[in-house]
Amino acid sequence: MRVFTLILAAVLLIVGCASQPASTPAPTSPAAAPALPTATLPVASSPEPTELSPTAAPSIAPSPTVAALPASCEPTSSMTEGPYYTPNTPERTSLLEPGITGTRIVISGYVLGTDCQPIPGALVDFWQADDNGVYDNVGYKLRGHQFADASGRYTLETVVPGLYPGRTRHIHVKVQAPNGPLLTTQLFFPGESQNNTDSIFNPALLLPVQETNDGWAATFDFVVESAR
Ligand code: FE
Repeated sequence: MRVFTLILAAVLLIVGCASQPASTPAPTSPAAAPALPTATLPVASSPEPTELSPTAAPSIAPSPTVAALPASCEPTSSMTEGPYYTPNTPERTSLLEPGITGTRIVISGYVLGTDCQPIPGALVDFWQADDNGVYDNVGYKLRGHQFADASGRYTLETVVPGLYPGRTRHIHVKVQAPNGPLLTTQLFFPGESQNNTDSIFNPALLLPVQETNDGWAATFDFVVESAR
């Protein structure tokens, strides 16, 4: 019986080995591998790598430079209106137009109440002499009003005014909060020798002028009484 069992086991082992599926070894020879039809692949079917175009990249707009609000808000000094104000000026933030010559200057800032809070919608009305110190008393050249935006800011683009006899360099302006009293004042320029001889010059109204790549720039915050 033991001999028969051994024989049977041997027979089964032989039969089992013979009945195993022939495992075909993977071809190891390069010659046996199927040739890749790289030369016949249509180029169009190969997806091109996606390149990010400059416009596809998310653009992050630089934050606009916003001057910090002052901690103390004394009302801006008033000054004389002078003889050259014309009412009903056009609404515009730029007084530049064909025929206007001179050094470009951008003046910007807040209109604030005495509580140091911005006043959206405040009226700001500028007028000034041209580059030769001459006012347009017939039309509206270098005259224009605007309203402070939702954050209480205004921006004026104009030219540096010229000098005229008896006065130092200046820009006239009226500022008024909605339903508030009207402030009439003037803005002055640093470094003017006439600042020392103009009897109404006020250093508190000096523009902190800086040179830029495109002219001059200055910031000035107006503080006015408001109805709130
Ligand atoms: Fe003037």
